Amino acid sequence: MTLPSTYADRNCSLARSLEIVGERWTLLIIRDAFFGVRRFGDFAAQLKIPRAVLTSRLKFLVQEGVLTRDDDASGGVEYRLTAKGIGLWSVIRALMNWGDTFYSPSGVKRAERHDQDGGLLDHEGRCEDCGLAVPVPEIRIEPGPGFDLTDSDHDPVSDAIRTPRRLLEPIMRPRTLAAAGEGDLGAPRAAGRA
Ligand SMILES: [Zn+2]
Repeated sequence: MTLPSTYADRNCSLARSLEIVGERWTLLIIRDAFFGVRRFGDFAAQLKIPRAVLTSRLKFLVQEGVLTRDDDASGGVEYRLTAKGIGLWSVIRALMNWGDTFYSPSGVKRAERHDQDGGLLDHEGRCEDCGLAVPVPEIRIEPGPGFDLTDSDHDPVSDAIRTPRRLLEPIMRPRTLAAAGEGDLGAPRAAGRA
Protein backbone atom coordinates (compact mmCIF):
# COMPACT_ATOMS: atom_id res chain seq x y z
CA MET A 1 0.00 0.00 0.00
CA THR A 2 2.63 2.52 0.96
CA LEU A 3 5.04 3.65 -1.67
CA PRO A 4 8.63 2.44 -1.43
CA SER A 5 10.89 4.54 0.77
CA THR A 6 13.08 5.19 -2.24
CA TYR A 7 10.29 7.39 -3.56
CA ALA A 8 12.06 10.24 -5.27
CA ASP A 9 10.77 13.35 -3.58
CA ARG A 10 10.63 12.92 0.19
CA ASN A 11 10.57 16.64 0.72
CA CYS A 12 7.12 17.04 -0.77
CA SER A 13 3.83 17.01 1.10
CA LEU A 14 1.98 15.88 -2.02
CA ALA A 15 4.11 12.72 -2.06
CA ARG A 16 3.46 12.25 1.66
CA SER A 17 -0.31 12.71 1.21
CA LEU A 18 -0.36 10.26 -1.68
CA GLU A 19 1.13 7.63 0.60
CA ILE A 20 -2.14 7.87 2.53
CA VAL A 21 -4.80 8.55 -0.09
CA GLY A 22 -3.11 7.99 -3.45
CA GLU A 23 -4.94 4.80 -4.22
CA ARG A 24 -8.23 4.60 -6.06
CA TRP A 25 -10.25 2.57 -3.55
CA THR A 26 -9.07 4.68 -0.64
CA LEU A 27 -10.51 7.92 -1.98
CA LEU A 28 -13.75 6.16 -2.94
CA ILE A 29 -14.09 4.78 0.59
CA ILE A 30 -13.54 8.28 1.95
CA ARG A 31 -16.06 9.72 -0.53
CA ASP A 32 -18.68 7.23 0.64
CA ALA A 33 -17.89 8.06 4.27
CA PHE A 34 -18.71 11.70 3.43
CA PHE A 35 -21.97 10.46 1.87
CA GLY A 36 -22.89 8.84 5.17
CA VAL A 37 -21.78 5.23 4.73
CA ARG A 38 -20.44 3.86 8.02
CA ARG A 39 -20.67 0.09 7.90
CA PHE A 40 -18.35 -2.45 6.34
CA GLY A 41 -21.17 -4.22 4.52
CA ASP A 42 -22.47 -0.94 3.09
CA PHE A 43 -19.03 0.11 1.83
CA ALA A 44 -18.61 -3.34 0.29
CA ALA A 45 -21.99 -3.33 -1.44
CA GLN A 46 -21.76 0.26 -2.61
CA LEU A 47 -18.21 0.07 -3.97
CA LYS A 48 -18.19 -3.58 -5.11
CA ILE A 49 -14.72 -3.71 -3.65
CA PRO A 50 -13.13 -7.05 -2.80
CA ARG A 51 -13.64 -7.60 0.93
CA ALA A 52 -9.99 -8.27 1.66
CA VAL A 53 -9.07 -4.98 -0.01
CA LEU A 54 -11.76 -3.11 1.92
CA THR A 55 -10.58 -4.66 5.19
CA SER A 56 -7.00 -3.60 4.57
CA ARG A 57 -7.90 -0.07 3.42
CA LEU A 58 -10.19 0.56 6.41
CA LYS A 59 -7.56 -0.72 8.80
CA PHE A 60 -4.95 1.54 7.24
CA LEU A 61 -7.24 4.60 7.35
CA VAL A 62 -7.97 3.95 11.04
CA GLN A 63 -4.23 3.59 11.74
CA GLU A 64 -3.59 6.89 10.00
CA GLY A 65 -6.34 8.65 11.96
CA VAL A 66 -8.50 9.38 8.91
CA LEU A 67 -11.34 7.20 10.20
CA THR A 68 -12.38 6.04 13.63
CA ARG A 69 -13.67 2.56 14.23
CA ASP A 70 -16.31 2.37 16.93
CA ASP A 71 -18.30 -0.51 18.31
CA ASP A 72 -21.89 0.45 18.88
CA ALA A 73 -24.25 -0.91 21.53
CA SER A 74 -25.83 -3.46 19.18
CA GLY A 75 -22.51 -5.14 18.44
CA GLY A 76 -22.06 -3.47 15.06
CA VAL A 77 -19.05 -1.48 13.96
CA GLU A 78 -19.07 2.00 12.47
CA TYR A 79 -16.35 3.83 10.61
CA ARG A 80 -16.49 7.63 10.76
CA LEU A 81 -14.34 10.40 9.41
CA THR A 82 -12.18 12.24 11.93
CA ALA A 83 -11.43 15.96 11.65
CA LYS A 84 -8.30 14.90 9.74
CA GLY A 85 -10.46 12.86 7.37
CA ILE A 86 -12.99 15.67 6.93
CA GLY A 87 -10.09 17.84 5.80
CA LEU A 88 -10.02 15.72 2.63
CA TRP A 89 -13.35 17.04 1.33
CA SER A 90 -11.62 19.87 -0.53
CA VAL A 91 -9.48 17.24 -2.29
CA ILE A 92 -12.50 15.17 -3.28
CA ARG A 93 -14.35 18.31 -4.40
CA ALA A 94 -11.42 19.38 -6.57
CA LEU A 95 -11.18 15.96 -8.24
CA MET A 96 -14.96 15.85 -8.79
CA ASN A 97 -14.88 19.31 -10.35
CA TRP A 98 -12.01 18.30 -12.59
CA GLY A 99 -13.84 15.14 -13.67
CA ASP A 100 -17.04 17.11 -14.36
CA THR A 101 -15.12 19.61 -16.46
CA PHE A 102 -13.30 17.12 -18.65
CA TYR A 103 -15.39 13.92 -18.55
CA SER A 104 -19.01 14.92 -18.02
CA PRO A 105 -20.30 16.78 -21.09
CA SER A 106 -23.91 16.87 -19.82
CA GLY A 107 -22.98 18.76 -16.65
CA VAL A 108 -21.99 18.13 -13.05
CA LYS A 109 -22.67 14.66 -11.67
CA ARG A 110 -23.25 15.98 -8.19
CA ALA A 111 -24.02 19.50 -7.08
CA GLU A 112 -23.14 20.98 -3.71
CA ARG A 113 -25.56 23.34 -1.99
CA HIS A 114 -25.54 25.29 1.23
CA ASP A 115 -28.14 23.41 3.27
CA GLN A 116 -29.32 26.56 5.11
CA ASP A 117 -30.26 28.67 2.09
CA GLY A 118 -30.07 26.26 -0.86
CA GLY A 119 -27.36 28.33 -2.56
CA LEU A 120 -25.10 26.51 -5.01
CA LEU A 121 -21.45 26.22 -4.03
CA ASP A 122 -18.72 27.33 -6.39
CA HIS A 123 -15.59 25.28 -7.02
CA GLU A 124 -13.97 26.66 -3.88
CA GLY A 125 -16.94 25.73 -1.71
CA ARG A 126 -18.32 29.25 -1.35
CA CYS A 127 -22.09 29.71 -1.32
CA GLU A 128 -23.27 31.78 -4.28
CA ASP A 129 -26.20 33.07 -2.20
CA CYS A 130 -24.68 34.15 1.11
CA GLY A 131 -20.98 34.15 0.22
CA LEU A 132 -20.02 31.89 3.11
CA ALA A 133 -17.23 29.32 2.81
CA VAL A 134 -19.60 26.52 3.78
CA PRO A 135 -18.35 24.05 6.40
CA VAL A 136 -18.65 20.37 5.49
CA PRO A 137 -21.59 19.50 7.80
CA GLU A 138 -23.66 22.28 6.17
CA ILE A 139 -23.08 21.04 2.62
CA ARG A 140 -25.99 19.34 0.91
CA ILE A 141 -25.11 17.09 -1.99
CA GLU A 142 -27.57 16.22 -4.75
CA PRO A 143 -27.57 14.71 -8.24
CA GLY A 144 -26.71 17.27 -10.92
CA PRO A 145 -27.65 17.42 -14.62
CA GLY A 146 -24.84 15.02 -15.53
CA PHE A 147 -26.04 12.32 -13.14
CA ASP A 148 -27.31 9.30 -15.09
CA LEU A 149 -30.03 7.50 -13.14
CA THR A 150 -30.07 4.56 -15.54
CA ASP A 151 -26.39 4.00 -14.79
CA SER A 152 -26.97 3.69 -11.07
CA ASP A 153 -27.61 0.82 -8.65
CA HIS A 154 -30.87 0.48 -6.79
CA ASP A 155 -30.26 -0.63 -3.25
CA PRO A 156 -30.97 1.21 0.01
CA VAL A 157 -27.52 2.78 0.25
CA SER A 158 -27.39 3.88 -3.40
CA ASP A 159 -30.93 5.25 -3.12
CA ALA A 160 -29.98 7.25 -0.03
CA ILE A 161 -26.89 8.66 -1.73
CA ARG A 162 -29.01 9.74 -4.71
CA THR A 163 -31.38 11.65 -2.45
CA PRO A 164 -30.35 15.22 -1.61
CA ARG A 165 -28.67 14.97 1.79
CA ARG A 166 -26.14 16.66 4.01
CA LEU A 167 -22.60 15.33 4.03
CA LEU A 168 -21.70 13.10 6.99
CA GLU A 169 -25.36 12.47 7.83
CA PRO A 170 -25.38 8.72 8.48
CA ILE A 171 -27.15 6.36 6.15
CA MET A 172 -28.74 4.10 8.68
CA ARG A 173 -30.84 1.12 8.13
CA PRO A 174 -33.17 0.65 11.11
CA ARG A 175 -31.34 -1.00 13.98
CA THR A 176 -33.35 -4.20 13.98
CA LEU A 177 -32.94 -4.68 10.24
CA ALA A 178 -29.27 -3.83 10.49
CA ALA A 179 -28.69 -6.38 13.20
CA ALA A 180 -30.53 -9.01 11.18
CA GLY A 181 -28.60 -8.11 8.05
CA GLU A 182 -25.18 -8.17 9.62
CA GLY A 183 -25.01 -11.95 9.44
CA ASP A 184 -25.21 -12.25 5.69
CA LEU A 185 -23.05 -9.19 5.18
CA GLY A 186 -20.69 -11.00 7.52
CA ALA A 187 -18.38 -8.11 7.73
CA PRO A 188 -17.76 -5.75 10.62
CA ARG A 189 -16.34 -8.33 12.98
CA ALA A 190 -14.08 -9.78 10.33
CA ALA A 191 -12.93 -6.29 9.47
CA GLY A 192 -11.99 -5.69 13.06
CA ARG A 193 -9.89 -8.80 13.40
CA ALA A 194 -8.06 -8.52 10.13
ZN1 LIG B 1 -25.46 30.21 1.74
